[in-house]
Amino acid sequence: MSLLRKQESRCRLFPMWGVAWIPVCTGMTYEESIFKTMKVIYHPRYEEVYASDPAAKAGRMECILKEISPLYKLVHPEPASVADIKLVHTEWHLSSIQRMPQTCEVALLAAGGAIKAAELAMSGEPAFGLIRPPGHHASPDSCWGFCFFNNMAVTIAKLRKEGRIKRAVILDFDLHYGDGTDNIFGGVADVVYFHPEARDRQEFVDSIALFLERHKADIIGVSAGFDRHVEDWGGQLKTEDYRAIGKLVKEFSERVCKGRRFGVLEGGYNHDVLGKNVKAFLDGLS
Ligand SMILES: [Zn+2]
Repeated sequence: MSLLRKQESRCRLFPMWGVAWIPVCTGMTYEESIFKTMKVIYHPRYEEVYASDPAAKAGRMECILKEISPLYKLVHPEPASVADIKLVHTEWHLSSIQRMPQTCEVALLAAGGAIKAAELAMSGEPAFGLIRPPGHHASPDSCWGFCFFNNMAVTIAKLRKEGRIKRAVILDFDLHYGDGTDNIFGGVADVVYFHPEARDRQEFVDSIALFLERHKADIIGVSAGFDRHVEDWGGQLKTEDYRAIGKLVKEFSERVCKGRRFGVLEGGYNHDVLGKNVKAFLDGLS
């Protein structure tokens, strides 16, 4: 049986953008799957240009999909509910985003994508939310930096509220500090937020290893921003470093929290390298 025929027997294949066939999970058995075990959460509406910022730029999702869609099953999320958003954001903030209907709809789907990734992680399947808009600059009552709702914070708060986890570690390797996530969880002892800074790439990866050695959690969530890459804004990390970081997260999760690990996309703006950087991180994480 050819590779393509094997794929067709388990998935519906959708032609998109004229560059790739996109397999979408139809709930069928994947025991002999050609895919790796990790799932990628994705929704076609993430391709919409919902704002005029670099995170919403046309082609940003497509350049990542081109690299990873042949390797991982794509799973569609549901939008986050208003109640989910209110776990970490004020009514005033929610109302201000709702005044931009298209942006709000895509942002709710992004938060829902992060929730879906974490739910899979809780059931023992590692997952990555290939979502946008990003979220780590969204605070309870404000946002900036191309973010609207804090996808990671909504997700961790929801798991905690439902009593499914007590303690969480959030690793944020984006170039920029996730002030929104810090503002939301700053006074919460059981949610540890870590944003490494370093003089060079080796020190950066080593600092993550050291941090993970010293912590325990019921789940680890990764705010995965790729704008620190040598060919992106930060000019520091190489593609192989994302693979190493993914592997560290995998090893941490298997050591301390039954393998519960998930990531969500934050920054990353050079479309020429973004796809291969996400692919490298998922190689390590899966
Ligand atoms: Zn960033």
